[in-house]
Amino acid sequence: MPAHDSVAYRICPVDPAAHLFEITLTLSQPQTGQHLVLPAWIPGSYMIREFARNIVWLRAAVDGQPVGIDKQDKHTWQLGAVPRGAQSLVVTYAVYAWDLSVRCAYLDATRGFFNGTQVFLRVEGRSHWPCTIYIAPPPAPFGEGWSVATALREHGKRGRGPHTGFGEYEAATYDELIDHPVEMGVLTRARFEVRGVPHEIVLSGRHDADLTRLSRDLPLVCEAQCAVFGDQPPPFARYVFLVNVVGEGYGGLEHRASTALLCARKDMPYPGMVEATEAYIGFLGLCSHEYFHAWNVKRIKPAAFVPYDLQQENYTRLLWLFEGFTSYYDDLALVRAGLITQQQYLDLLAKTVSAVARSGGRQLQTVAESSFDAWIKFYRQDENAPNAIVSYYQKGALVALALDLLLRERSGGTRSLDDVMRALWARFGDGREGLAEDALPELVEATTGLDVRLFLKQATASCDELPLARAFKSVGLRLDWKAENKSPSLGARLGSEGDWVKFVNVYTGGPAHAAGLSAGDLIVACDGLRVKAGGLEAVLARRKAGDSLKIHAFRRDELLTFEVRLAEAPASTASLSVMPRAGVGAVKGRQAWLRTG
Ligand code: ZN
Repeated sequence: MPAHDSVAYRICPVDPAAHLFEITLTLSQPQTGQHLVLPAWIPGSYMIREFARNIVWLRAAVDGQPVGIDKQDKHTWQLGAVPRGAQSLVVTYAVYAWDLSVRCAYLDATRGFFNGTQVFLRVEGRSHWPCTIYIAPPPAPFGEGWSVATALREHGKRGRGPHTGFGEYEAATYDELIDHPVEMGVLTRARFEVRGVPHEIVLSGRHDADLTRLSRDLPLVCEAQCAVFGDQPPPFARYVFLVNVVGEGYGGLEHRASTALLCARKDMPYPGMVEATEAYIGFLGLCSHEYFHAWNVKRIKPAAFVPYDLQQENYTRLLWLFEGFTSYYDDLALVRAGLITQQQYLDLLAKTVSAVARSGGRQLQTVAESSFDAWIKFYRQDENAPNAIVSYYQKGALVALALDLLLRERSGGTRSLDDVMRALWARFGDGREGLAEDALPELVEATTGLDVRLFLKQATASCDELPLARAFKSVGLRLDWKAENKSPSLGARLGSEGDWVKFVNVYTGGPAHAAGLSAGDLIVACDGLRVKAGGLEAVLARRKAGDSLKIHAFRRDELLTFEVRLAEAPASTASLSVMPRAGVGAVKGRQAWLRTG
């Protein structure tokens, strides 16, 4: 019997070989017609994913007697007639879990992972009830040496014996329940504190990571992010980085007191590593990004997310703020923490500047539009994406950068984007209310005394270029552009398929487009000579802009011929350098911005 006014869940990795979790939901005071619903999407990943498709069977019983339960739509079940005075409803179901990504659920003989959105049915009308969650170990012979890692709160007393983490947990509401992913398996752990709050990094998967290095570097990242919001401890009782280490993979999803990360083995620091590798810096940047989200989007939210409606799209034009600003602060924290040098940071910034400059979509879509259409465009990119979409992550990060440097310059170094983040935190940090779609300019003005309406309008609601060169100049930095290499350009991104050179993207307005080539075309030969995967660069290196090149290519099974007039490679690679004769004000501004002074 569940406690009065509570929902009890029990989850067991019952059949690791078949990738099945079995879940039992127990509810007091069941009612005829009760609805049970599984979310269609997971906060932080803005796409309808219809998680209910992974429920393979489901049955219900009231006070021990089977009771009818029927589907009402793709993710809703409705309970049949329940006798008067019924005490408890038990719903048992199995969830197929075979998705390695951070937004889903996974189970095999080596590990289990789930987000609550995949496995816990919501009892409609009772989302505000407290929940208990019993996490059971897999049946023998599985589960040898397994333990559990999650930021869920442990509930009640634990049995004797080693503390494996299997047992009972609690959450105040359904919303909290589904915001704590759970990892289980043979785990490697390291613990550290940030401003007195316990933090843990937990690795699953095969790895040779240097845990000492991670527990030395990560606290510096976390401290730099805390500092953006003032001198308070971070807004959670403890924090867990759940890291699944695989051969190839990348991803992260933010939660209120944890993050689920997927990374490649080469991203981990190895014992004896002296200089941080580019891959490891990338990993630290990912940790930094998700950690910053604990403030920005998990607590400071757009009004459209208060509360979430997990059955359908939740539209906001502000993802450039919630993802873009977070992307700006992720690498910024690394230089502020002293984990990368000023020049390493400038190189990372230059990469983002180049990426935005190369996307033709920036001339067609604003970051506000990109945010709004994330559900059908950014999260569902196809071969035409570079021509049609601007990334609200990348351009959003540059909006943050330009805004930060603008505030610093106009206020003579007394105000910055950090002040804006602190104001957002003070106003919306308790999560009760969200930021209205058009409220940022006013909040910036109230905080800094500066009117940035025009800047924000142009930066987020138009396709005008951001005033980056000017912004960089204000802190004594020079932005230069050059072509990626000396060879002429086809105006396309090329890849391979087996032994073939393949057009991955064909850029609107480029030579390949003008000649009629399309994404998916496979090159057979150039000027009558066979070209194999990796061989086209050598062909282009011997040509110059203005030359024409006959390309023979397969489209499906049809052999076609195209006459391409090669163009000058565009100067779309940005670089940033320190201006040798910058004024004292600019140099001081830069030091204050990067905390390198
Ligand atoms: Zn993010």
